Amino acid sequence: MCATKLTHDTSHITYDSLLEGNKQFVADTLQEDPLYFEKLANGQTPPVLWIGCADSRVPANQITNTNPGEIFVHRNIANMVIHTDMNMLSVLDYAVNVLKVKHVIVTGHYGCGGVLAAMTHKQFGLIDNWLRHIKDVYRVHSKELNAIEDEGKRGDRLVELNVIENVSNLCKTSIVQNAWQNGQDLHVHGWVYSLATGVISDMNVSANNNSKMDEVFRFEEQ
Ligand code: ZN
Repeated sequence: MCATKLTHDTSHITYDSLLEGNKQFVADTLQEDPLYFEKLANGQTPPVLWIGCADSRVPANQITNTNPGEIFVHRNIANMVIHTDMNMLSVLDYAVNVLKVKHVIVTGHYGCGGVLAAMTHKQFGLIDNWLRHIKDVYRVHSKELNAIEDEGKRGDRLVELNVIENVSNLCKTSIVQNAWQNGQDLHVHGWVYSLATGVISDMNVSANNNSKMDEVFRFEEQ
């Protein structure tokens, strides 16, 4: 990590400073381990697929104290698992069937702009089509959510429910169901990260089989 003292002023980040930063990264890394890049270039065997938010404050590696090569990452706005998202499905397919990851983790975060935007009645443009999936989560859990008077707390709960629903979406994919049917050791999980404390909370919705899945979503054995 380069900056220990955080500042919201990002004006020092320029196109050129990124390339300068890269030179520094290469020099520092080689000083520590002259064979680092040679070893990394040999291939990847990450045991984890991370499905997280695109938010710049939630980088998978830093917040889990891991290194390049250790987490396969897919990020989008509000860490969504959408049934027809070919991008997400392609990443998931590669992670499960080629890399044979052991864990897929959907990680949301409190204060997620996408989730909070979905709670409003404003139009934001094209992204409304993406946010509508979060409104669907709200609709399913509207009784619980509407009972929470504090708007901040309601937002936090929707962040959690959004993760839980997206873990469920993940389980319903043919990719995950087939892996389970084939006896693959694959666990899915839901986490929420706190920007305010840096701490990850486990939503305790981990699964490695379809026993909790609604009947209608279960595919018969291939
Ligand atoms: Zn977010």
